[in-house]
Amino acid sequence: DADAAGASEPERPKYRAPVCCVMGHVDTGKTKLLDKIRRTNVQTGEAGGITQQIGATFFPADAIERQTDALTRTAKKKMEMLVPGLLVIDTPGHESFSNLRSRGSSLCDIAIVVVDLMHGIEPQCVESLEMLRKNKTPFVVALNKIDRCYAWKSPADSPIYQPFKVSQKEQEQATLNEFKARTNDVIVQFAELGFNAALYYENPDYRTHISLIPTSAHTGEGIPDLLLMLVQLTQRMMAKQLYLQPELEATVLEVKAVPGLGTTIDIILVNGSIREGDEIVVCGMEGPIHTKIRALLTPHPMKELRVKTPYQHHKVVHAAQGIKISAHNLENAVAGTSLLVVGPDDDVEDLKEEVMEDMETVLESAVDKSGEGVFVKASTLGSLEALLIFLQSEGVPVNGVGLGPIHKKDVNKAAIMLDRKPRYACILAFNVAIAPDIQLYANQRGVTCFTNETIYRLEEEFLRYLDGKKQEEKEAVRDLAIFPCICNIVAVFNARNPVVLGVEVEQGVLRIGSLLCVPSKGNLEVGRVISLQDNGIDVEEARETTQVAVKFDSPHGLTVGRQFTEEDKLISVVSRDSIDVLKAHFRDEMRKSDWILIKKLKTVFNVI
Ligand code: GDP
Repeated sequence: DADAAGASEPERPKYRAPVCCVMGHVDTGKTKLLDKIRRTNVQTGEAGGITQQIGATFFPADAIERQTDALTRTAKKKMEMLVPGLLVIDTPGHESFSNLRSRGSSLCDIAIVVVDLMHGIEPQCVESLEMLRKNKTPFVVALNKIDRCYAWKSPADSPIYQPFKVSQKEQEQATLNEFKARTNDVIVQFAELGFNAALYYENPDYRTHISLIPTSAHTGEGIPDLLLMLVQLTQRMMAKQLYLQPELEATVLEVKAVPGLGTTIDIILVNGSIREGDEIVVCGMEGPIHTKIRALLTPHPMKELRVKTPYQHHKVVHAAQGIKISAHNLENAVAGTSLLVVGPDDDVEDLKEEVMEDMETVLESAVDKSGEGVFVKASTLGSLEALLIFLQSEGVPVNGVGLGPIHKKDVNKAAIMLDRKPRYACILAFNVAIAPDIQLYANQRGVTCFTNETIYRLEEEFLRYLDGKKQEEKEAVRDLAIFPCICNIVAVFNARNPVVLGVEVEQGVLRIGSLLCVPSKGNLEVGRVISLQDNGIDVEEARETTQVAVKFDSPHGLTVGRQFTEEDKLISVVSRDSIDVLKAHFRDEMRKSDWILIKKLKTVFNVI
């Protein structure tokens, strides 16, 4: 085979293509948008240089220029395309791709976050934003599905898509009003998350404000604007970062078994060149992998029927490109980590250490010092990190992490929580296998395993489980929860057996189940509240200044008028246990003033 990739680049370009990934909530239109951008060439019938690569699509500068011509033609100064094009990672929304690293920093130079204009910002989008903020990755937002605004008029199908500015002029005022209102809602949502956002053509400063670009993945409207913003933003913000370096920079995208080739790795070569026969070092689940490239593969430019394998072999490939590598011992390679080539002056041991660093820092920093938490497993480092970020945002600690399938020892570790914190006796496993015997073992031990293939669904499932567990744990201790209150007796309906009093709540909250006593009579117990009635209607609780009839399960022999009188006050009996239970399970039902009252009552009962 001819060395197509190498030969097509006679002159070494000064810049490399920025790497772009597409993120956002499910169903916002990520796939559709990518397809639509990719179809620019299919529809025109000319290749346009857009090439399908392994795991990525390359959009050359001239194809972008053609799409954005209508936008830049009228500009005073024509945009200069410095970069040779854009390399867009193909698998959208796959959490593991949004967090890929090359040499410790994010692989993606820029991201497109897709938001459904009809739905606004959704949970998975918040997660993506967290990740981008953490990695300091710049991004633009595609406000997608504009065509769903009421009575939106879309242009006829055309291989050159219509800029948003043109679309906007075609719309009736009512439609534009809806568009504006929805856009403003999204801007407010961004503000709530701590981001300044503005429509891209109203953006006062791209360094402080995120650009929103209205798009339709159905009609292609706004795609020229999107491409232009991507190029402008990368060129303005990171020209230096985009110099093509001689040094190799590459990231493992995916580990895949391919018939006839064995286990292969799909990589994105971000910088530098790679050759057949090169010795490489990659991060493995069971330690570093040192191997030799057997074949460097890219898809055939045209799918010829007579071609036996779908791949073309190369002797050398230059950045930026998506490539499949075939070599020995790649079974345990970890996606989302760097790939290094052993140079003539390199010490393999140094490279091995370097390649394991990303993984070790992620794994080490994840585990909570309390010794309590859930167990997390994932197929890639990126998806593992996405899960960790999610758990952190939910305030759920982690007690163990790992890559690859669930083992018996993972179940054993999770089972430790059954005694310490039962709700955490579970394993969140994303995209990893669990053998039937291990599942059975987990069931026997009482360890719950969550194994959904979609990270978002996995998170939903886990949250539902956690809510259920919290509710269960709360119910189990409900009797111990004594809410604080001080009451005045205003009437005696029944002096004994059972004691029924009319009381006015002076402070705090009187609840069914609360144990009350008479502080002026040596904390004499009046009994637990069995029922509460407000004007003849049963109620669960009564707050400050409400008057209610209270029925107690008083001890035998207690008579109002004998051991205590109407003049006495009643207070809740608080204890260390009751306070701990309130803190652990009933925070959401306690007011700030209730906690202050607890503090006061503690002194009555000498609770430390
Ligand atoms: P993903 O989960 O984010 O990849 O979303 P998809 O690309 O699969 O799109 C989800 C659904 O939304 C599909 O039914 C699409 O046809 C639809 N969709 C995506 N983009 C648009 C758009 O711009 N306009 C309209 N009307 N529908 C869209």
